[in-house]
Amino acid sequence: MADKVADIRRSGLTFAPEAASPRLRAVINKWIPDEGLLEMSAEAFKKGWKHVECYFMIGLPTERDEDIEAIVDLCFRNLKVGKAINPNAKINLGVSTFVPKPFTPFQWAEQIGMEETERRQRILDQGFKKTSSIKFGRHHAKTTFIEGLITRADRRCADLIETAWKNGARFESWDELCNLGAWQKAIEETNYDVEFALRERDPEERLPWDHIDMLVPKEWFQEDWARAMEYKHALDCRAGKCHLCGVIFKEQELCSHMLKNQRKGRIEEKEWTPEPMPEYVEPEPIQRIRFQIGRTCEPRFLSHLEWMNAWIRTLRRARAPLSYSQGFHAHPKVNFAAALPVGEESRGDYMDITLKDFVHPSDLLERVRATLPDGFLALGAEDIPLRTPALMSSVSGIQYSLIADGQNAEELEGLISTVMASEEVMIERKVKNKKKGRGRGRQRAPKKTAPLNIRPMIHELTLSEYTDQQLTIQFTTHIHENKLAKPKEIIHLLRLDPFATRIVKCQTLLEDQNALVAR
Ligand code: SF4
Repeated sequence: MADKVADIRRSGLTFAPEAASPRLRAVINKWIPDEGLLEMSAEAFKKGWKHVECYFMIGLPTERDEDIEAIVDLCFRNLKVGKAINPNAKINLGVSTFVPKPFTPFQWAEQIGMEETERRQRILDQGFKKTSSIKFGRHHAKTTFIEGLITRADRRCADLIETAWKNGARFESWDELCNLGAWQKAIEETNYDVEFALRERDPEERLPWDHIDMLVPKEWFQEDWARAMEYKHALDCRAGKCHLCGVIFKEQELCSHMLKNQRKGRIEEKEWTPEPMPEYVEPEPIQRIRFQIGRTCEPRFLSHLEWMNAWIRTLRRARAPLSYSQGFHAHPKVNFAAALPVGEESRGDYMDITLKDFVHPSDLLERVRATLPDGFLALGAEDIPLRTPALMSSVSGIQYSLIADGQNAEELEGLISTVMASEEVMIERKVKNKKKGRGRGRQRAPKKTAPLNIRPMIHELTLSEYTDQQLTIQFTTHIHENKLAKPKEIIHLLRLDPFATRIVKCQTLLEDQNALVAR
């Protein structure tokens, strides 16, 4: 298998034994002997992989502490195998906490709570603390806890979800945004019984999803659950005998189709030899076009990555003959002047594209405009020399308009004068924490701030227009020691309401002003 994968692409290789001790593997019906796993891993290291990924679960039914210690032991044995082949071998370990799901033989199992999850994770932390060659990543206990509240719930959970949402819960699967407090408050307000939600169910108990027919009757899941508790192995029906799980009685066609495909797949796999990759040489780029671009309305809520992807798709729809980088992960050569933060509008951004065929900029601009999503602006396009320095390195400053309402113009002018008359305007800016987070970014190192004088970066700050309802501030920032002042810092300094102030990027200033695109 390693041979076949290596021939195509050297991506990550993940082994998912899920449990490390033979006893627990018998419970989850996953019969992979340690030797088999270590052999596969050794093969991968021999084929040139520097690290392999291993995936395990904690909190599985009947789990004991020695099953968790077995994860540590197996990972170290795996690492030893790897190091014997490549001294730089590493293991990336992912560990999630088991959440019982409806329509599975484990739907009756108990889910461990947050504290117990953290205790079991600490056993792993302790086990791996002496090595940097095993990176331990985990699912956060609080997200698993919330998942457990909902997964097997009945309709009473609707109130809990709605109340949590009213309390501010939004992006719960993002560890950094998971709002456990909102859920805890909702649990109190709705009197939600957490213990009841996570408890082990009696196999005879009526379950909220019993009325849904999944083709496999409840009795069969009960038998399989009993089989798991007795450590009895049931071979996969695709490779062994039919266990009469129920599908065959209702949808015989489905079973025979699956088994036929399985047989066909096995034969194909045996006979498969990789096709030699066709030799492809990316043509030399011959042209570079600079677009002046912008956004208004809804697109201002896109992240920079989404914004870039939307432009690349637009260019493809407009049949731009884009040049690509080489390698497995070939990227179109499209560069942007600066990252555009969520919430900012713009009329003055730039995007450079490199092409392998010649196109007239005005023709391409027309085609791009014809296929642009709403709120995206293509304001101009012009040829620039192919060897022009990278757009990002040419940025020397940015001009903004800050449009706020309901402010006292006199007070604001006073604040602006104070800022402009000062030699020093100190703020606290978030800086990258050099201390690395642990395990696949799951537990990030806390963010740090550092004091910064932004006055040398503020080139212009004036109140340009004001009425009773609205005022506009012109703000220009120039690069100083590789840094620019940020509009949100100015909003804070001028005591404007950040939620009611529109930020519009009017122009990105480039070092080579001649290269600017005429509107
Ligand atoms: S062959 Fe069909 S009925 Fe038999 S165990 Fe598999 S899915 Fe169930």
